[in-house]
Amino acid sequence: TTKPKTDLEIALESPMQHITTIAEKAGIPEDALELYGKYKAKIDTTQLNHLTADAKVVLVTAINPTAAGEGKSTVTVGLSDALNQLNERVMVALREPSLGPVMGVKGGATGGGYAQVLPMDDINLHFTGDLHAITTANNALAAFIDNHIHRGNELNIDPRRIIWKRVLDMNDRSLRHVMVGLGGPAQGVPREDGFDITVASEIMAIFCLAKDYQDLKKRLSKIVIGYTYDKEPVFVKDLAVEGALTLLLKDAFKPNLVQTIEGTPAIIHGGPFANIAHGCNSIQATHTARKLADIVVTEAGFGADLGAEKFMDIKSVQGDLHPDAVVIVATVRALKMHGGMDKKSLQQENVGALTIGIQNLEKHIQTVREFGIEPVVALNRFITDTEAELQTVIAWCEAQGVEVALTNVWEQGGAGGLELAKKVLEVLNRPNQFSPLYDVKDSIEQKVTTIVQRVYGGKGVQFTDQAKKQMKEIEKYGWDQLGICMAKTQYSLTDQPNLLGRPTDFTVTIREIIPKLGAKFLVCLTGDVMTMPGLPKEPAALRMDIDEQGRPVGLF
Ligand code: ADP
Repeated sequence: TTKPKTDLEIALESPMQHITTIAEKAGIPEDALELYGKYKAKIDTTQLNHLTADAKVVLVTAINPTAAGEGKSTVTVGLSDALNQLNERVMVALREPSLGPVMGVKGGATGGGYAQVLPMDDINLHFTGDLHAITTANNALAAFIDNHIHRGNELNIDPRRIIWKRVLDMNDRSLRHVMVGLGGPAQGVPREDGFDITVASEIMAIFCLAKDYQDLKKRLSKIVIGYTYDKEPVFVKDLAVEGALTLLLKDAFKPNLVQTIEGTPAIIHGGPFANIAHGCNSIQATHTARKLADIVVTEAGFGADLGAEKFMDIKSVQGDLHPDAVVIVATVRALKMHGGMDKKSLQQENVGALTIGIQNLEKHIQTVREFGIEPVVALNRFITDTEAELQTVIAWCEAQGVEVALTNVWEQGGAGGLELAKKVLEVLNRPNQFSPLYDVKDSIEQKVTTIVQRVYGGKGVQFTDQAKKQMKEIEKYGWDQLGICMAKTQYSLTDQPNLLGRPTDFTVTIREIIPKLGAKFLVCLTGDVMTMPGLPKEPAALRMDIDEQGRPVGLF
């Protein structure tokens, strides 16, 4: 057998259409298109004000993933191509990749095999610079804060109580804790600082949740940057820099138009991680796609316990939208791991482990049903899956009364997703009973308990002393009526990455609660999730290169 082509090889040999052709197909007026070369463009959404955002929304989510990812983006792209083949007016809306995982371990964010978005190398590297703009806005704010203190500190900011961190779009553990302002009086005021990865910045979250420039500015003005010596909160508006920050995001804020291998119009915009942030592409992008198409296929990061929960409790609530159908991506190999198999032996057929691991899928099906939506399972086929294993999953789903479709979009593009597309279309034609799981007016404890019990399947929640103290402060300032953004490992339904399958009777510990007033949510940190990840021993970067013609090599 020949070695299968890599994602990059397939992408590079796929012909692309000029982006103006794609724009025309999507119904984007010429005036709204800002070209970034031949294959990328930004959309000036102010030119689309006359259109109504009324397309149906298909949300793609997954079981708890393994280290490699389970093919959610791949299925999202393949499903869109399949709907396109069925002559539906469809657009796909994805998140922008972060260079941290690209250089680290996970891979890109443009799908895989014959279900990819192009130009995949550009998108996975610097794309149209949105992440740089967000990084710059974030770090400009840090510079304004330090300068304010250096210039006399009129606001009485306590340098020990600054919560605004600097960011970088890279996994760089050495920057988690740093000292700034060293070197004497001319170099600023020394203080302890730290870096997060850009996708964890509140500015990324705000960018993805804001409706328009005015909303963006208003939200930026509400960011809490730290506290005074009297322990009173200090906001961006106190520094009067929300205008400058908004201006720095002027172009980045416009959604990016690209295409799939099969020429389906795609919007890629905004990219918070789902384990430490809310995990969904921008509301602007989804909104724009909903104006242009009849069906929008989008994804939320990691499993349904993280991205999908946040899509439905945060993005849907703030963006006045809701999914009309939810697809849960599952793979035989991940289910076998959930059933106790070792990562190294996944090639071997093991229906026993699969049957145990399927309980993880069962929980995610229940979770989607908790939101009032009947899910469709997409079984993403790998070459190593055996017929007996595939039939086990399909028969199980049928016995549970849940729709399932075997998908082979990685190998066949849209043609491998037609069965899934037809099942999704059936769901879209049914009435929808969507409702979020909690009311933002509930207490913090109530909201977190709801998520832990109804989404993770746990017993309850425990708050550390520090979290309890923060909860009291948040209540004192009247910030408790916000959404909850859980920061939790993606690998497990619990807060411990090694507990796979479907654990029961567990408690989740909240160790810290960080108010993000601009994003309108409270980040609840659990376990030891890092807001600045590290690189693995052998980063993906080791395989990357550029050839003599200047073409990329080894980018997955
Ligand atoms: P996720 O969105 O869940 O993180 P991706 O769609 O990005 O996952 O896929 C992760 C990697 O797995 C990609 O390199 C992709 O090419 C590969 N992949 C996805 N589906 C398949 C499949 N059915 N067979 C082989 N490789 C696949």
